[in-house]
Amino acid sequence: MNLIFFGAPGVGKGTQAEKLAARLGIPHISTGAIFRAALQQGKELGLRAREYMDRGALVPDELTTAIVVEALQEPENANGFILDGYPRNLSQAEDLERALAEQGRGIDSVLYLTAPQHEIVERMLARGRNDDTEDVINHRLEVYRQETEPVLKFYQDRELVREVYGVGGIDEVHDRVFDAAKVAAES
Ligand code: AMP
Repeated sequence: MNLIFFGAPGVGKGTQAEKLAARLGIPHISTGAIFRAALQQGKELGLRAREYMDRGALVPDELTTAIVVEALQEPENANGFILDGYPRNLSQAEDLERALAEQGRGIDSVLYLTAPQHEIVERMLARGRNDDTEDVINHRLEVYRQETEPVLKFYQDRELVREVYGVGGIDEVHDRVFDAAKVAAES
């Protein structure tokens, strides 16, 4: 199954995508995690991504899409994947659609994780990542509203979106996520 985890920054996509990936036995591809790992390893990619991440801005599409296109060509991702944090704007959504179509594939379902904004901000502050200061969080949420939310409509038009309520314990939310993925697999 080829899945996308969609939702605001801080809604719990990473945690839930990882749990679902483990349960379904398919890889989890997180662009944010790839950038953070590249930075930790002192790689050029990480250093270039950092100036954007630190501000809560989107890393340029050329860099981000190249990573995803490369990942999609890996044999380990040939039988399904869970994308988390990508696509984050319409141009990325179009690039992804094109790259998958070239491989005779497509997205099966978009799991849209939701939570009230105050909950999201609290979770991000509690997480304490480098880019989780109040100013940067506000900027990330603004970027989300301006650039990422239109991606939801892109997939709604293709009737691929399944909404999952993201408030509750990790296992409780996971059960909802798993049910949504099961419905997607059966349809
Ligand atoms: P995340 O771990 O998904 O919250 O991503 C952390 C940061 O990485 C974001 O605030 C962006 O700066 C960058 N990033 C991750 N995914 C993307 C993407 N698809 N497009 C552009 N920037 C991204």
